[in-house]
Amino acid sequence: MKLVALTGGIASGKTTVARMLRELGAEVVDADALAREVVSAGSAALQEIVASFGPELLLPDGQLDRRKLAERVFSDPAARARLNAIVHPRVRERMRQEVDRIRSRRPDAVVVLDVPLLFDVPLPELESLPAIVVYASPRTQLDRLRERDRLTEEEAERRLRAQRPLREKLVHARWVVDNDGDLDRTRAQVREVWEALARDP
Ligand code: ATP
Repeated sequence: MKLVALTGGIASGKTTVARMLRELGAEVVDADALAREVVSAGSAALQEIVASFGPELLLPDGQLDRRKLAERVFSDPAARARLNAIVHPRVRERMRQEVDRIRSRRPDAVVVLDVPLLFDVPLPELESLPAIVVYASPRTQLDRLRERDRLTEEEAERRLRAQRPLREKLVHARWVVDNDGDLDRTRAQVREVWEALARDP
């Protein structure tokens, strides 16, 4: 089995590239989906979040009010660290389980770990994996973010500014997929990465 990490910046095209890799035959483990799963209604992680941040973070149906939580931690690094300490170990454990499950089913699979926050937060075990970084210029990120999430320029800028500049992540990349162009150009690059993965020992 071959493990690689996939990362990028907000709206840079990680999901799009993950889909292309899946079409080529990769197994994709989506850290964001697992992060949503571990805080689902009734979970131990959600109980800890409520104990730490207060019951006002629950919606009437018992689900986490993700928007409210995001606002709480947005400009408060200590709160963000508290939240990460609750969520990250559980996501790592779920990722490990998913990888084990794939290994037993498809021992020769290429497994792509889609980890948006790789290189933004400390994730020691994952940082040593060969990484695919999906790049788009800040202007393209803003345009696609505005369009996808129906945001104003200011809202999109605020979200982009909250992240480490994507350019700084490029030094960690084994492969860079430049997603500033159209989908065909991106698909051609993804195919090259896929072929390199098949060749690599
Ligand atoms: P996030 O981390 O914010 O969820 P992401 O990195 O997963 O984003 P995507 O959702 O794949 O990014 O892409 C952002 C938006 O841009 C989507 O609406 C997607 O359809 C669109 N998009 C991605 N790549 C291209 C491209 N090459 N050309 C045009 N639109 C694109």
